[in-house]
Amino acid sequence: MATTKTRSSAAKTGRAKKTSTRRAPVKKRATKASRLTNSQRKNSENKNTEKMSGSLLQEFFLEALKDIYGAEKALTKALPKMSKEATSAELKKAFTEHLAVTKKQIERLEQVFKKLGEKAKAKKCDAMAGLIEESESIMKETKDDTSTKDAALIIAAQKVEHYEIATYGGLVQLAKTLNKNDIAKILHVTLNEEKKADELLTKVAERGGVNEEASNEPAEEKTSLKDNIISIFSKK
Ligand code: FE
Ligand code: ZN
Ligand code: FE
Ligand code: FE
Repeated sequence: MATTKTRSSAAKTGRAKKTSTRRAPVKKRATKASRLTNSQRKNSENKNTEKMSGSLLQEFFLEALKDIYGAEKALTKALPKMSKEATSAELKKAFTEHLAVTKKQIERLEQVFKKLGEKAKAKKCDAMAGLIEESESIMKETKDDTSTKDAALIIAAQKVEHYEIATYGGLVQLAKTLNKNDIAKILHVTLNEEKKADELLTKVAERGGVNEEASNEPAEEKTSLKDNIISIFSKK
């Protein structure tokens, strides 16, 4: 009798266990499904309707996007000048190709503004304005048709690329923090392009022979202001 009782209770327990183990995965699946639905809903909010408001970080993110948008736009005006000033065919090509890449990056930023439900608005980027100004001084101060000018232009351009790498690297991280992974992905494409541009410039300088050729260019004899004045008068 006792055995039967034990057996039956064991059977009952077994049945109960079986039922609970059969139910458990169903419950788990349901939880997973509802969790997915939540995140999907959140995602679609991010993609379509969510405006850039809510946190100070979100506000800063938008301002930083306007800054780099302005920076890229300023670059589209500077790059053709740099290409024109370059002597090395390889360097000219690097600049004109990066101009095309930059135009695509501008479109990519417009895509990001659209995803945020914001108008694409450019802000003056003081850093880029300074870097471009510096490159213009370099173009004026170095001798035309020399590899020295090319070497100097490469460094000026690399300063620009490094600024962009820092900016896009930071923006990708902020986008991730703000749960905007689709935007992070878009910005990451640009980040990789800037890194590639930087590497190409190093290659042109080093393997392309620009730096080596520049090192063989003799400096011109320095003439003093006094000598210049004398030569002007002696010409008359
Ligand atoms: Fe760029
Ligand atoms: Zn900037
Ligand atoms: Fe800036
Ligand atoms: Fe760039």
